[in-house]
Amino acid sequence: MRILVTNDDGYLALGIRALVRAAEDHGDVDIVAPDREQSATSHSLTMHHPLRVRTIREAHVVDGTPTDCVVLALGELMDEPPDFVFSGINHGANLGDDVLYSGTVAAAMEATILGIPAVAVSYTGRDPEAIEDWVPTVSTLLGRIVERGEFPDQTLLNVNLPAVPAREAKGVRVTRLGRRAYEGSLTRSRDPSGREYFWIGGGESRWWGEQDSDFRAIDEGYVSVTPLQLDLTDFDLLQDIRGWGLDT
Ligand code: MN
Repeated sequence: MRILVTNDDGYLALGIRALVRAAEDHGDVDIVAPDREQSATSHSLTMHHPLRVRTIREAHVVDGTPTDCVVLALGELMDEPPDFVFSGINHGANLGDDVLYSGTVAAAMEATILGIPAVAVSYTGRDPEAIEDWVPTVSTLLGRIVERGEFPDQTLLNVNLPAVPAREAKGVRVTRLGRRAYEGSLTRSRDPSGREYFWIGGGESRWWGEQDSDFRAIDEGYVSVTPLQLDLTDFDLLQDIRGWGLDT
C-alpha cells in the first residue's frame, strides 16, 4: 500500500507528524506538504507564479497550497500513484460549513477528483500537543477503511476527532454535515498609522443540525466520519427549479 500524506498546517505541524505515524502502520508513506500554514485556503490552485519544491528530511515541501501539493505529488513527485491520500491531522475542527473553507478537506477533494481514495482528518481540540495521543485511534480507523479494498467513487471521508483525551473517546459515529455560523468574526479597525483595516477571524461560533450531524457526535465525545460527495448538484430541487421556466 502506497500512501500520500499532506495537510494545510505546513510540514512542521504536529498533526501531520501524527498522521504519518498512523499511516505508516498501513503502507509506505510519501509526504508532500506546504512549507507554511495554508489553513482556510480552500481549494485554491497556484497558477500565476512558479512553485518550488524542497526535500527536507523525508518530506517534499511545496511553497503552495494543499491542492498544489496533491497535484504535484500525483503529477510529478511520486513514481506511481498512491492507493490512498490522507490529509491532516488538522489543528482545529472541520465540521459543517467549514469544510468549504478548509485546505485540509480540499486536499482530499483534489485527490478524489484525480481518482485516488482520500480521507481528511481534523482534531477539534485547541491543543495540538494532544494530537499525538490520537495516533492509535486514527491508525485503527484508517486501517478499517483501507482494508475494505473498495472505496466509493467521487467520495471522500471527513474525519473529526473530539476534544477529549483520546482514551476517553466514546467510539465512532457516521454523520452528516451540520451547519455553523460565526458572529463577531469581522473586525474593522485602524492600524498605528491611522489607516483602516479589516480582519476576518475569531468571534463566536454556533452550530445546529440534525441528530446525526457531525457537530453532535463531536459534542458527545465521538469520532465523526462524514462521507462527502463532490457533485454539489441539489438533486432534491432539480425538478422544482426546472419548473421555474428558466429553460428556453
Ligand atoms: Mn489547518
